[in-house]
Amino acid sequence: MTKTIFITGASSGIGKATAKFFHEKGWNVIATMRNPEKETELTQLKNVTLLPLDVTDFEQIRSVVAEATSLGKVDVVLNNAGYGTVGALEGTTDQQIEQVINTNLLGVIKLTKEFIPHFRKNKEGVFITISSIGGLVAYPFFSLYHATKWAIEGWTESLAFELGQLGIQVKTVQPGPTKTDFVGRSLVVPEHPAYDEFFEGFKKMFFSDEVINGLEPPETVSEVIYEAATDGKNRLR
Ligand code: NDP
Repeated sequence: MTKTIFITGASSGIGKATAKFFHEKGWNVIATMRNPEKETELTQLKNVTLLPLDVTDFEQIRSVVAEATSLGKVDVVLNNAGYGTVGALEGTTDQQIEQVINTNLLGVIKLTKEFIPHFRKNKEGVFITISSIGGLVAYPFFSLYHATKWAIEGWTESLAFELGQLGIQVKTVQPGPTKTDFVGRSLVVPEHPAYDEFFEGFKKMFFSDEVINGLEPPETVSEVIYEAATDGKNRLR
């Protein structure tokens, strides 16, 4: 039977590449994104359904999960939507702090929670969250991003135990730097003069043209996601 993957943030980068990758493997794809009306490429593909979803809109999460599960069995949920903030914590606004936590952490938790009854009823299902190398190590000026990705790692570890006994797998994929819109979109929060020199050195290390041009393409991550979706292994170690 044809399997189905549900993806958040499928409008670009890893999310979009993974929607195409699974489509090519013969899966049904439910590709969610904030502005599906702007999408032109995925709309051309058979068995790819576009649904609107802003993962910080918790009411919309409920209605989209209800709609997706009414279409048939969902086998894999990919929590992909996310972004980073780069800059000194001292220069961030309360709104920036809340937005990155709402997107990368609360959106993941709430979407996953809404899907659990569907997976429990089916006695199977795979939750995959795109964490990051930044969920395992820490760099300066990424503290908000690390806060969300490290939290995702601990949350996944616990949930893998909790849901594993029901036949549900819970795992993360931890990409290294990948050539997507992530870097360009990473919100550079206002710098504070006290950090200027350190921040300039940091930007050269992470965001110079030479570094950006040498990054892995998102399809490399899609292959790892496909393995995680199909290997039958829970996170437990
Ligand atoms: P992109 O910027 O290309 O993609 C990010 C996606 O997230 C976009 O589709 C964007 O949608 C979506 N998004 C952001 N906020 C929301 C929201 N509130 N609701 C729904 N969708 C939202 O970057 P990547 O493909 O690189 O990022 C995908 C994931 O990979 C993220 O979780 C990121 O943290 C992770 N990652 C990326 C790495 C990298 O180096 N690129 C390395 C490690 C992890 P929209 O088009 O509407 O803005």
